[in-house]
Amino acid sequence: MTRVNAGSASASLELARATIRDLVPYPTERIPCEADLSDNTNLFGAPPAAMRELATSGRDEITRYPGLYTRRLREALAEYAGVRPEEIVTGCGSDDVIDSAIRAFAEPGESLAYSDPTFSMIPVFAKVNGIVPVPVPFTPSLDIDPDALLATNARVIYVCAPNNPTGTAPSPAAIDRVIERAPGIVILDEAYAEFAGAGRVADGPRHERLVVTRTLSKAFGMAGFRIGYGAGSAALIHDIEKVRGPYKENGPGERAAACAVREDVDWMQELAARAVEIRERFAALLRERGFDPIPSAANFMLVPVAQAARVASAMRERGIAVRPYPSLRSIGDAIRITMAPWDTMERVLDALVAARGTVEQEHVTRTPESGR
Ligand code: PMP
Repeated sequence: MTRVNAGSASASLELARATIRDLVPYPTERIPCEADLSDNTNLFGAPPAAMRELATSGRDEITRYPGLYTRRLREALAEYAGVRPEEIVTGCGSDDVIDSAIRAFAEPGESLAYSDPTFSMIPVFAKVNGIVPVPVPFTPSLDIDPDALLATNARVIYVCAPNNPTGTAPSPAAIDRVIERAPGIVILDEAYAEFAGAGRVADGPRHERLVVTRTLSKAFGMAGFRIGYGAGSAALIHDIEKVRGPYKENGPGERAAACAVREDVDWMQELAARAVEIRERFAALLRERGFDPIPSAANFMLVPVAQAARVASAMRERGIAVRPYPSLRSIGDAIRITMAPWDTMERVLDALVAARGTVEQEHVTRTPESGR
């Protein structure tokens, strides 16, 4: 007889591996709202040349397996990244590339170290692959701590630059130290590098043990297509590709992505610059209102705020979705806000200030003595 594990977030048959039973699925379900600023995508538009290219999709692209254009996508990405096509692996989002790299380079039971807090899928990818996640604190200035990461002796070290959810960029010296001394593979996740105006994707193949991952989901505005990639030495890329398996990208997405990195780069850079400008303007207004946002190098911002979950739901009641993070290590409760066109950001500010007021008021009502 099968029994359900009632202790987990959603009931799971005991047939699943023990590590899987207690995993909580990534919160992807979205209740429609006026402005969704919860997922760090490009809220300024979709790449125009890629959109035009899509309109020419032919029947074969629908009826046949993809792959016909893989070479073209790899060539386009290689040119954009400044590497050779055999030094590029693509996947169903950079999620897929990171997951495949972890599986390729760590045996079950080995460990994966990362600075905490980071991209929430990292410990999940570790666990589903039978790998032990080892979170390591950031330094007090929110830089990665290379020696603490190296001291774990982990088979895989994951570094996110700029980091999600803090938005902070690890210092180049700290990244260098990790890359030079890591006992195993380093995954450098540059999902938001286009907003930072810098990155190391071209360095991937120069280091035997480094893979740099990037995505079309953020600055390029193509999250719906699920196209990501990694750059590394041809040998390392070949191993990741073996693990990833065939046909992970869809045909129209491959073609649109190849077109975007060839023809929409100026468009992307202009919108990324606009997001950065809006981020700085928004941060200044937040500070005027008594918030203390964490300085960001990405297209989002982490704002520490008491009772983040409640603040986020009060903002949602006002039509604005942001991502709440309860009890982040060294930070506490915070909300993460994706940058959007300025008229939306003005509404976000009003919603945040009002939500903070509502939550403070609820607190006073519940504990009258704390209001004195
Ligand atoms: N890395 C980071 C740091 C992210 O924030 C995300 C998406 N939230 C990803 C990777 C995965 O993005 P995708 O699979 O869409 O490429």
